[in-house]
Amino acid sequence: MRAIRRFTVRTVLPAPLAPLGELALNLRWSWHPQTQDLFRSVDPAAWEAVGHDPLALLGTLTPARLEELAADRELVARVGAAAEDLDAYLTGDRWYQGQPAGAPASIAYFSPEYGITAVLPQYSGGLGILAGDHLKTASDLGVPIVGVGLLYRHGYFTQSLSREGWQQEHYPLLDPDALPITKLREADGSPVRVAVDLPGGRQLHADVWKAQVGRVPLLLLDSDVEDNDPTERDVTDRLYGGGSEHRLLQEMLLGIGGVRALRAWSRISGAPAPEVFHTNEGHAGFLGVERIRELMTGEGLSFDEALEAARSATVFTTHTPVPAGIDRFGRDLVAQHFGGDSATPGVPVDRILALGAETYEGGDPGVFNMAVMGFRLAQRANGVAKLHGVVSRGMFNGLWPGFDRQEVPIGSVTNGVHAPTWVAREVFELGEKAAGGPLTEPDDAWRALDTVSDADVWGLRRVLREKLVHEARARLRAAWAERGASDAELGWVQDVLDPDVLTIGFARRVPSYKRLTLMLRDPERLRSLLLHPTRPVQIVVAGKAHPADEGGKRLIQDLVRFADDPAVRHRIVFLPNYDIAMAQTLYPGCDVWLNNPLRPLEACGTSGMKAALNGCLNLSILDGWWDEMYDGNNGWAIPTADGVEDPDRRDDLEAAALYDLVESNVAARFYDRDADGLPRRWLEMVRHDLKSLGPKVLSSRMLADYVRDLYVPAGASGRVLDGAGHERAKELAAWKLRVRGAWGGVRVDHVEADGVGDTPQLGTTVGVRAFVSLGALSPEDVEVQVVHGQVDAHDDLTSTTAVPLQHAEAFEQGRHRFEGQMRLERTGPFGYTVRVLPRHELTAGPAELGLVALPTVTASEPSTDYLR
Ligand SMILES: *Cc1c(COP(=O)(O)O)cnc(C)c1O
Repeated sequence: MRAIRRFTVRTVLPAPLAPLGELALNLRWSWHPQTQDLFRSVDPAAWEAVGHDPLALLGTLTPARLEELAADRELVARVGAAAEDLDAYLTGDRWYQGQPAGAPASIAYFSPEYGITAVLPQYSGGLGILAGDHLKTASDLGVPIVGVGLLYRHGYFTQSLSREGWQQEHYPLLDPDALPITKLREADGSPVRVAVDLPGGRQLHADVWKAQVGRVPLLLLDSDVEDNDPTERDVTDRLYGGGSEHRLLQEMLLGIGGVRALRAWSRISGAPAPEVFHTNEGHAGFLGVERIRELMTGEGLSFDEALEAARSATVFTTHTPVPAGIDRFGRDLVAQHFGGDSATPGVPVDRILALGAETYEGGDPGVFNMAVMGFRLAQRANGVAKLHGVVSRGMFNGLWPGFDRQEVPIGSVTNGVHAPTWVAREVFELGEKAAGGPLTEPDDAWRALDTVSDADVWGLRRVLREKLVHEARARLRAAWAERGASDAELGWVQDVLDPDVLTIGFARRVPSYKRLTLMLRDPERLRSLLLHPTRPVQIVVAGKAHPADEGGKRLIQDLVRFADDPAVRHRIVFLPNYDIAMAQTLYPGCDVWLNNPLRPLEACGTSGMKAALNGCLNLSILDGWWDEMYDGNNGWAIPTADGVEDPDRRDDLEAAALYDLVESNVAARFYDRDADGLPRRWLEMVRHDLKSLGPKVLSSRMLADYVRDLYVPAGASGRVLDGAGHERAKELAAWKLRVRGAWGGVRVDHVEADGVGDTPQLGTTVGVRAFVSLGALSPEDVEVQVVHGQVDAHDDLTSTTAVPLQHAEAFEQGRHRFEGQMRLERTGPFGYTVRVLPRHELTAGPAELGLVALPTVTASEPSTDYLR
């Protein structure tokens, strides 16, 4: 018989054990080993059986057992102490409370996925893990963030393999009552409900659940409620599933419903309204449209005024240079949901459509692009590593035509990782032993570890590797059982991998640019590395392909088939169902973390950072974070064949470079032992890795960057523009309309410069006079600049400096003279030009409007008039 409905009955804890309930519901336990120890000690066998899930553990306890435990005075005392410790963590002042006054009182953070712990499987990969680390770090640092996301009833799929090595997907139904979340309720006990209007008079309703991530609340919207029709109930069924309309509805619920959920949260909890809205990737972009709606209907602002107010306080982070990673919808589909019965009534649909329009060269007029809307709705935007900043500025240059790539207003904040989540406990314990006491800051651990002897560091590495080997065997056995093998056939599994062999890890999602199977390029070469008589390597591989990605599944199958070969299966394993739990043993247990993406498509990559914090050395293409943090001694750079057009040839070259490096560098160093059996030169690298990368890859560094570079400035702009009366938003909107309308009349008519003689010398100062037409604009509306720098063979300026010119004289008919000076500060080819830019103190920079007037240089007019 099948149940028609299911729910989970939560345990009622006897009073002395009541604090266990709060300890289980506050996800701080997921990065606090002491709290995990407490739960383990309640029932070690059950703890293992439920996969280290505190709530599930409590669910296994019978009332009789609970009574017994409540009488255990020592346990009760430890429960009390843990509750006190949590309370102190939640209430004391932390880093953010020491920041200068004026920092935002609340920041809303939107993400389509969150990877916080394996027991709340609401993530698919790096984006979600990063969001989880962001919230945990905000909690540790006391940054007042409120997270907003969706609760997927099936989460992301769990992966297993068929006999043939083909990926199988399962979508276990998650029962919210069995998850560490609580339903948000009004004062009268009724559930908080948000609704979004849909075409045809339908409505999408959602309940709101709250996960408590240390100090940070995370609101998750859930459409599986009885008021909804079956189609709407399924909106939050699974992460990244379904067709286009399904995705659009998810993103409308996340963005629009998310803002409404935040309003409800403030009403119920008394928490201050968010002053800054941060959207982690484009999926939540409709939050800006909802904020515009609020301001238009509530404050009577025009669309343009509301746009200025909303975008001043919005931060957008782009996460991928891979076009397939960016959500694009049919324009008609968006028109259907925002015209007529609109989800955001009162906001003109043509203006919404314009926000997502690909108006640049090569853009598709039939498409609504969520990343493009993200940039238009946020005054501040960033990529997630320095190189990714460069790539994003190039990729989205079309939104700021007339500006050179380096002037495109997209900055970068390099991602980081949450050490308490990702660093093996043994690493911190060794650090504590060396420091002679508890470590208060993660940074202290890397410093303390530097004082530990080589033998102890090597001992630690051995322990971590061995743990991985045991875990890999258990997972492999389970995987083979699923593939239909009997126990009798699996005797070999107990000898798979060797705790003393150089261990290389490779685990990530399987989009093609990550090149899961690059290592298989020359199977014979790989085999000889695995089976080397004295310097063997072993490889642990994991990763999920997107369910719709047949190509990715084929790559997994290729790898599994290779690893199934009895000749090598003791040296290479594919472990199904890569997730947080696996990752936590995998990174520390590997000696080398391999990453071979197609440069520059890896925006940042964070698994290598997590590996590095555990003393595992990176062996990677110089892409994402590694491009910026590789220093020549903290790991290895796989040479890239950038510029080789033929992808096959490029793969061949890069794979060959990888094999060479592994053989002659990595393995050689790992097996180079001294009289004490220690690989001194390897350990030197491990120490250097910990010391040099430790502080840089931490999410505390990342969050401090976000606070300083984005949240504080956005909060300040928001206060000016989004403050009472919105006078300044009105002013800025009116100014932008006026400037845009009049820009056609802005011209650089003529430029004069002092003669520099035949051989200009370094340090010479050159006077510049620019004659410009401003049409209906006044000199206060613009900045006239001389831009100078090196020139290349095409007269293109590179590495430029911009110097503002002063207004000197007004002529008739809107013509003006501006003048100033430039200094020749570099030897070699030098050039300059003059440009006019809109200027207003409330813009975040001169490129904000995407408007610029440059001299028109035509062929009949020798370029030397203006350039050189
Ligand atoms: C860190 C992590 C990722 C992301 O790693 P990348 O290096 O960005 O590919 C994906 N999945 C899990 C489980 C992780 O822990």
